[in-house]
Amino acid sequence: MAGEIVIRGVRENNLRGVTLRIPLGRVTVVTGVSGSGKSSLVFDTVAIESQRQLNEVFPWFVRNRLPRYERPKFEFMENLTPAIIVDQKPVRGGSRSTVGTMTEVNPVLRVLFSRCGEPSAGPSHLYSFNDPQGMCSACDGLGRAVRLDLDKLLDESKSLNEGAIRHPAFAVGTNYWKRYARSDGKGRGRTGAGGSSDRFRPGQAAS
Ligand SMILES: [Zn+2]
Repeated sequence: MAGEIVIRGVRENNLRGVTLRIPLGRVTVVTGVSGSGKSSLVFDTVAIESQRQLNEVFPWFVRNRLPRYERPKFEFMENLTPAIIVDQKPVRGGSRSTVGTMTEVNPVLRVLFSRCGEPSAGPSHLYSFNDPQGMCSACDGLGRAVRLDLDKLLDESKSLNEGAIRHPAFAVGTNYWKRYARSDGKGRGRTGAGGSSDRFRPGQAAS
């Protein structure tokens, strides 16, 4: 990508008519002492103006549902590209976070696929890996299948009293074990396979 963003006369917050050019397609670092207006320039002016211009390309129906931005105080800006704002908060993503969810570009992509895809799967939510109807059934949309290895967990040749549950947290005599071993109400152990083990979920034992 060639060219540069040309900005003139920025007066946002404490800035006094700052004029600068930011080359496109390169990493540009804005430095300065605390309070010199770095974030006024980058976040409050360039990023806000980019967001504002981007929102204007949507129809009114959509625009009414988007956050509204005041035009930042500057005289002139040219060649501005859409901005992706990554703030200084630590990224706290779960297993369902991707670049798409963090940059919030995912919903836009879903709409694009639902409108232009042939054959179409239907409305845009069906293109979400977080939607039960849209997610891959093999991995539940996580991109990686996590399955319980029942043979590792259970020794079906043993009774509960003999230690049918191999997980150390369910060793014979522990509280977890008692829940299953005494689940018939008579305090006697039953065979651990199937039936009473269906409430166990990986991760529970770690708590
Ligand atoms: Zn999958």
